[in-house]
Amino acid sequence: MTLTDTLNRPLRDLRISVTDRCNFRCVYCMPKEIFGPDYQFLPRAEILTFEEITRLARIFAGHGVQKIRLTGGEPLVRRDLHLLVAMLAQLPDLDLTLTTNGSLLARQARALKDAGLKRVTVSLDSLDNKIFKAMNDVDFPVEKVLEGMEAAAQVGLGPIKVNMVVKRGMNESSILPMARFFREKGYILRFIEYMDVGHTNGWRMDDVVPAAEIIKMINVEMPLEPLDPNYRGEVASRWKYKDGSGEIGIVASVTQPFCRDCNRARLSAEGELYTCLFAVSGQDLRGLIRGGASDKEISQTIERIWNRRADRYSEIRSENTVSLPKVEMSHIGG
Ligand code: SAM
Ligand code: SF4
Ligand code: SF4
Repeated sequence: MTLTDTLNRPLRDLRISVTDRCNFRCVYCMPKEIFGPDYQFLPRAEILTFEEITRLARIFAGHGVQKIRLTGGEPLVRRDLHLLVAMLAQLPDLDLTLTTNGSLLARQARALKDAGLKRVTVSLDSLDNKIFKAMNDVDFPVEKVLEGMEAAAQVGLGPIKVNMVVKRGMNESSILPMARFFREKGYILRFIEYMDVGHTNGWRMDDVVPAAEIIKMINVEMPLEPLDPNYRGEVASRWKYKDGSGEIGIVASVTQPFCRDCNRARLSAEGELYTCLFAVSGQDLRGLIRGGASDKEISQTIERIWNRRADRYSEIRSENTVSLPKVEMSHIGG
């Protein structure tokens, strides 16, 4: 049965964060000053087990979820992730994907594919090592991420999508080199406007490079034309190169909010359900599971939460909302 919220939006997409840990310290997501050596990550016992995740995923699928994306933190730092993929792949008619920083992808690509993963999205903010290292802040080289993408493409986890967060003053100079490189490769590059997620990244509107500016810049050298969305609620707006050499996407959640069609829920690593990326708090599903609730009870809870959902943060974003407390991106995934 299809659920709808107060704005008549269905629940179609579930992002599952499998860990709050990460081996990168991207300045826009997990700045080192906050996520330093003393930062308290979730203890193992508080994180959902693969069985618990799979049980919840099955219940969500019963509510109309058609797509599951594994994320984090960095999902590939969760041990034996391919075993979870294999369990989720048993659920019928699900599009099962993963977003990763690519650092551990080369060695896991084959096992993930064999377990039933369909595609991957790999994040990469620049091809220039100086810029990329300044953004990941752990001295991680571009080449290793490219190796991960290559391995994923080779085992059939394509078409590879590449996520590039654009932050003013850091990597605008990488927009054109990235577009050229991934057009050549046939991967779908998606530019993401820097967002005010969480409260640790010191976001300012001035740091956002608007989607229109990115399109204009690329269009001068490689003419573009808009494409229709693949489906209602698709987050990235699509553009194709006029010469037929592929497409790019833009996630313009700051300058062109898309809350009207937002059909996604997020499950944090410790089993809290968030109905918006910018939510202040989540709803505890782990407590239900570990307290012995039946599938029916959990299902009814999810239904109640979704039915009363009214989130539209990006549409009402203002100077005042930016300073509100919010959950960190690394906690609930992108
Ligand atoms: N660690 C994985 C990765 O980086 O791909 C998965 C989790 S990460 C939180 C998911 C996506 O969110 C990444 O593509 C990342 O670049 C993006 N992201 C993180 N912080 C962001 C921010 N402040 N604004 C826009 N995108 C952000
Ligand atoms: Fe880690 Fe991904 Fe956040 Fe970067 S964006 S710090 S790789 S979780
Ligand atoms: Fe969806 Fe919230 Fe983002 Fe709007 S702000 S698109 S409701 S996650």
